[in-house]
Parts: sequence; structure tokens; C-alpha cells
Amino acid sequence: MSTSTSGTRQMRSSFKSIDEKLCLGSHLSVSGGPWKAVEEAIELDIRALQIFTKNASRWVQKPIDPVSVDRFHDAISNWGPHPLLSHDSYLINLASPKEELFEKSIAAFSDELERAELLGIDFLVMHPGAHVGSGVDSGIDRIAKGMLRSFEQVPHTKTRVLLENTAGGGSTMGRSFDELRDLLDAIDTPERTGTCLDTCHMFAAGYELRTEEGYDETMRQLDDTLGANRVFALHLNDSKGDLGSHLDRHMHIGEGLIGNSGFESVMQDPRFSGIPKILETPKVEDMDRKNLDLLKKLSEQK
Ligand SMILES: [Zn+2]
Ligand SMILES: [Zn+2]
Repeated sequence: MSTSTSGTRQMRSSFKSIDEKLCLGSHLSVSGGPWKAVEEAIELDIRALQIFTKNASRWVQKPIDPVSVDRFHDAISNWGPHPLLSHDSYLINLASPKEELFEKSIAAFSDELERAELLGIDFLVMHPGAHVGSGVDSGIDRIAKGMLRSFEQVPHTKTRVLLENTAGGGSTMGRSFDELRDLLDAIDTPERTGTCLDTCHMFAAGYELRTEEGYDETMRQLDDTLGANRVFALHLNDSKGDLGSHLDRHMHIGEGLIGNSGFESVMQDPRFSGIPKILETPKVEDMDRKNLDLLKKLSEQK
């Protein structure tokens, strides 16, 4: 796994370029093979990449063949090394109170870890899950147990698991900084875990980002609970839903209800220097390039 760049946070003070400090990236398609995403990353000139290592709406898929793994690593050596992320399948629910789904989720999550290790992925972003009525405490307990069993099954991986915050719809877990902290504390394996904050989900969950005062208050809450040092990646998405709407619908940067001002605060926040910032906005026309250009512009101090 020589191409892995785990520990990018340690190099924070020694950015070789402004692009490295911004660390902008995108979730790109692996259709045709995982190396295709890397080729697109080179074309977009980005410094971070997120992919699915399997079809996100299927339980089981055959292992990635060795030829594809080699092609992926070859492509990476032409591009990076830059931070690599994968996102877990939407079917996995480690918080499920149902035994069968819980066991299936552990098996599928272990498979995600193995695939990530095979490809030299630095960070595996996962949705903590939904407790579906069994309660937050029970959900936290299940997620911690499930995660630790996966860690036992796949003991030797350099991939760090990042719990993503959610918009808080239904009984989804991880809607607040407190809940993410409680989850990380319950898993109690700090060397293998962390969080990924999604701006759309934060805003929809009720965290203000639009005004300077609102942003500062949100970050004060982050510092007081989870701590910014446990944030290893950001998902940069504008939000279709309003503050506290719990609606998980991503919009292009500046075109949703967070707007340019919110992203200006994020991009200029030293807490997030050098941390991968991934777009998960709709892939239409040339929008990735436009979103990236806008984020770069918003990162410049006035
Ligand atoms: Zn996600
Ligand atoms: Zn996200």
C-alpha cells in the first residue's frame, strides 16, 4: 500500500502548494473500472478522490480482480499520492435491532474494509445507521459492537473509518456532534476511526453555516464536543432543504440554501486546511469543474 497517504493531517504545516492545502476533490464514478475514477481525477486536477469500491445498492459483489487493482495503483502513481476515500454501501445498517440485518451489515462492512485495504484507500466513509425505533442508546451499542467485530475480522488495515454525520431524517444516527462523539467513544478505537462532516447534512440537521456568527457558533459547538481533530474529511454539498429540515438533498455549491457565504467560511477555516473536501453534487455537464472553481475562489481571503 505504498500509494496510501494516511496521516495527511500530520503534514498540515508543510503544504507544498495551495492546492494541497485546499485538498479539493470529488466523488467520481468507477464505471468501467476503479482506475477510471483516477483518470478523471487527473483530468479535473483534483487533490482528493472518493469512490464506491462496489455497487452501493447491492449486498454482495465479487472481489476486485488483481488486474483491476494493478491498473488502479498504476493510475494512482500518475496522479498522487493524494488522499483516497471510499463510501460504504447504502444498505449497511450496523444500528439495526434486527439480528439478520445486523449480521448481514457486519459481513458487508468487513467486505468494504477489505476492498478499501486492497485499493490502498485512506478513509472509508460510512453512514452510522438507523436505530428504527429501538432508541439512540441501543443504536450506539449496536454500531459499536458491529464495528468492533468488523475490526476483528479485518485486523490489519491502514484504512481509517470515518463516521459521517447525517441530516437526521427518520431514526438515522449521527445527526449531531454529540452523537458522533458518543459513537466514537463507544467504539473506543481512536487509531482506526474519525468523522467526515457533510455540509448539507450539518445544515439540514440544524447547524447554521450561512452567517459568520452562525458559522462560528457551529464551530464552537464542534470544538466543545467532537473536536475538529477528529474530523478527517468534509463533504461539500449545498442543501436543497432549509436549516433543520432534515432533508438530505445535495445541491451545487452556491445554488442551495447554504449559499456562497457558508462555503467561504468553510474554505477559509484553518481547522480544515489539508483535509480532503469532497463534492457529492449531481454529475451534470461540467458542474464538477464549476463547483471546484467556485470553491477555490471562495477560499481566497478578501
Ligand atoms: Zn454519505
Ligand atoms: Zn456525504
